[in-house]
Amino acid sequence: MSTTLPTPVSDAMPVETPAPDRTYVVRTLGCQMNVHDSEHMAGMLEQAGYRKASAAEDALDSADVVVINTCAVRENAATRLYGNLGQLASVKASRPGMQIAVGGCLAQKDRGEIVTRAPWVDVVFGTHNLDALPVLLERARHNEAAQVEIAESLQVFPSTLPTRRESVYAGWVSISVGCNNTCTFCIVPHLRGKERDRRPGEILAEVQALVDAGAVEVTLLGQNVNSYGVEFGDRGAFAKLLRACGEIEGLERVRFTSPHPAAFTDDVIEAMAATPNVMPQLHMPLQSGSDRVLRAMRRSYRSEKFLGILDRVRAAMPDAAITTDIIVGFPGETEEDFAETLRVVEASRFSSAFMFQYSPRPGTPAATMDGHLPKEVVQERFERLLALQERIGAQESAAQVGRTVEVLVAEGSGKKDGATHRLSGRARDNRLVHLALPAGVLPDGPLPDQPATLDDPRLADAPDPRLPRPGDMVTVEVTRSAPHHLIADSATGGGTYAVRRTRSGDAWVAREKARLGGGDEHGHGAPAPDGPVVLGMPTLRR
Ligand code: SF4
Repeated sequence: MSTTLPTPVSDAMPVETPAPDRTYVVRTLGCQMNVHDSEHMAGMLEQAGYRKASAAEDALDSADVVVINTCAVRENAATRLYGNLGQLASVKASRPGMQIAVGGCLAQKDRGEIVTRAPWVDVVFGTHNLDALPVLLERARHNEAAQVEIAESLQVFPSTLPTRRESVYAGWVSISVGCNNTCTFCIVPHLRGKERDRRPGEILAEVQALVDAGAVEVTLLGQNVNSYGVEFGDRGAFAKLLRACGEIEGLERVRFTSPHPAAFTDDVIEAMAATPNVMPQLHMPLQSGSDRVLRAMRRSYRSEKFLGILDRVRAAMPDAAITTDIIVGFPGETEEDFAETLRVVEASRFSSAFMFQYSPRPGTPAATMDGHLPKEVVQERFERLLALQERIGAQESAAQVGRTVEVLVAEGSGKKDGATHRLSGRARDNRLVHLALPAGVLPDGPLPDQPATLDDPRLADAPDPRLPRPGDMVTVEVTRSAPHHLIADSATGGGTYAVRRTRSGDAWVAREKARLGGGDEHGHGAPAPDGPVVLGMPTLRR
């Protein structure tokens, strides 16, 4: 094993072009931040000459390079990583030349321990040096030794790296990395470092580039978007950024994640309400309804402040759908504390919630606190909270029945869409909607997520105007509801149904034709296997 902590890769050997047709797959565990980091990893590998493995190659474990982008936040992250690595050990034993790389938060945390526990791993790289991946793979091949390289601070802002975007109609844009808070249950500040903010000009240039490439939706990403601007001394920077996104022609939907209740100010609510392309949706982590527990979590808002924010958001945007994260069974949580969480959840009327049972993360302050609760106590509280939120979610969904919604059609269909012949997508408030097509639009049954041939009706030169493509907008009426989704079958009875073709739908067609070899993306260049690699955004200063 060669351990380099931290050698700047720019001083290391250059990236050699890998053997022709060397394929890769990136497997992502964890949050949106990780999903977006994986897009950068894929972009760098493609720029270095690798080709994304097809779904069939991935399923057969025949990719030449497998990158696992890990998460240290979820309880079972390590179990999942080592489970994945154990399964890959036998694959690698039968496939000489195959390489395995592990990146992301758990790699940043466990470092050399990963190659000690799984010596068949070739490369370990951290959250601060994503850019090292291609060089480390080459160095591992060349030296026939594992390479572990972890940087202690950010080497290159990830947005400056090449990116292979998963979607043509929606994209992630990082506005900051790291976090200055010190929530006692969270390992993120330790692994991602202090908050680093990108300049507004850089962010807006990336948003504009995404829109120019066909996207109609962007999600602004940061561990704590409300503190955006702290690094360059502008407390109002996030609200200004939202308003500036409103000026970008062709950008129809702007979302962001995650805000922090402590830093959530009214100027952001005003900017959301006043900017038509900022969607009426908010993911606002509550974590606990008990002020005592919030203090122990070192989260500096209290339940009344949280509920006050929700009131003001709903006063400004009556249709806003609000979601949250909640931790059940934090050390020392009493039955009275938990009753407070139930009270705040009841009052908050979340459309949905991610609920977690507390479990200690090594390296966090909460892990060594007194008062860890027995598993059965946490489980019983969790089930009560789940039942409450299921009831509220069902009621909030039911209130949507009869409403007309505009759905951005997604590429991946819902699990049951094949059987039900529906398409799926998100409404403006981010609710998941499964919608029926009018009779006769698909006489041969449902379509695959990705066209198998150029004869797919979505790729026709003169397609049925009633058939939307991923990235198009469909206006329908909600006819039924469930706690976690809406059904909009208005088209089947001759009711509301209107397709609006978008640039994103056109971009999706161009990408799919290029992938199938029947035309080229943007009218020139070689067919792309699955979409283009976008060069990293240049560093601009304003
Ligand atoms: S705000 Fe708290 S929970 Fe969120 S990333 Fe920062 S420390 Fe972690």
